Amino acid sequence: MLDREKLLAITDNVVFDEDMKKHTSFRIGGTADAFVSVTSALEIEKIICFCADTETPYMIMGNGSNILVSDKGIRGVVIHIGNGMSKCRIEGCDVYADAGILMSALSKKLLEANLTGFEFASGIPGTLGGGIFMNAGAYGGELKDIIESVTFICPDGIIKTETAENLGFAYRRSMFTEGGYVILSCKLRLREGNYEDIKAMMADFNSRRTEKQPLNLPSAGSTFKRPEGYFAGKLIQDAGLMGYSIGGAQVSEKHAGFVVNTGGASAADVTNLIKHIQNTVNEKFGVWLEPEVRLAGEGE
Ligand SMILES: Cc1cc2nc3c(=O)[nH]c(=O)nc-3n(C[C@H](O)[C@H](O)[C@H](O)COP(=O)(O)OP(=O)(O)OC[C@H]3O[C@@H](n4cnc5c(N)ncnc54)[C@H](O)[C@@H]3O)c2cc1C
Repeated sequence: MLDREKLLAITDNVVFDEDMKKHTSFRIGGTADAFVSVTSALEIEKIICFCADTETPYMIMGNGSNILVSDKGIRGVVIHIGNGMSKCRIEGCDVYADAGILMSALSKKLLEANLTGFEFASGIPGTLGGGIFMNAGAYGGELKDIIESVTFICPDGIIKTETAENLGFAYRRSMFTEGGYVILSCKLRLREGNYEDIKAMMADFNSRRTEKQPLNLPSAGSTFKRPEGYFAGKLIQDAGLMGYSIGGAQVSEKHAGFVVNTGGASAADVTNLIKHIQNTVNEKFGVWLEPEVRLAGEGE
């Protein structure tokens, strides 16, 4: 049972029984017992200590663009690393940025500084911390390619800075996906570029997104990771599942790699649709699709 008084004594930035639909791009999910929009590493450490002392579970969240929160919601504390921790400093080609900055906002700052290398991430709707966690990527680029080092809280509470090669980056994976880490900030290494070229590249990537992706409906982006040698969207389409729906969850009619919320979808609708897609694709093509979307919250 969450000790609300004790948590309030640590932070003012807490909302109780917060509706997670407001905080996820899927617009799905029950309530979180406590939702804290943090403003410093110290505040995060205090909350983690509180959770350890009171045996309260906690989870870290960025922009909620790769999370499916269960219908029963989240027990314990959601530590939201967003706007409150979103500073960025540029020194030549080195960029020091907090985990909570949105990748879209960072890309605009880098454009203004004539720095190239981050364009691929300008349309990914997440925080830098969430992007590092997932090793987010698009159009041939991945965050690991431009990360110099990351500063994070370890499961034992110690704050560490490690260079990219020690962070286990792989396709949509990092050491952080093992769990228990909190990404605080990072140093990126970019290159000098030309303002107009950077702007044109960002515009090109973003128009390709608008053309191909169902951005008019809530989703969490690509539902599945790309299986080796295949494209998830193509397999799903070839399995005849485009437009297939369960409740309010649908395989997008625009891009079969996306499950979208057509209105009022429950988390159970989405998970049932995911299972149906996995089984159908496996039966037809012998390929098991691994979800890219991360499940959070109390199980059904
Ligand atoms: C329309 C759409 C298009 C998308 N396109 C792409 C794309 O092209 N490429 C791509 O890679 N992804 C894409 N995504 C998915 C998503 O935007 C990325 O995975 C993004 O990096 C998630 O960031 P976030 O801040 O929203 O993380 P969240 O969804 O909040 O969290 C994702 C995971 O990261 C963890 N996490 C978040 N922040 C931290 C932190 N500071 N410390 C420790 N753990 C943390 C969370 O616990 C969670 O497990 C898309 C999503 C949507 C909705």
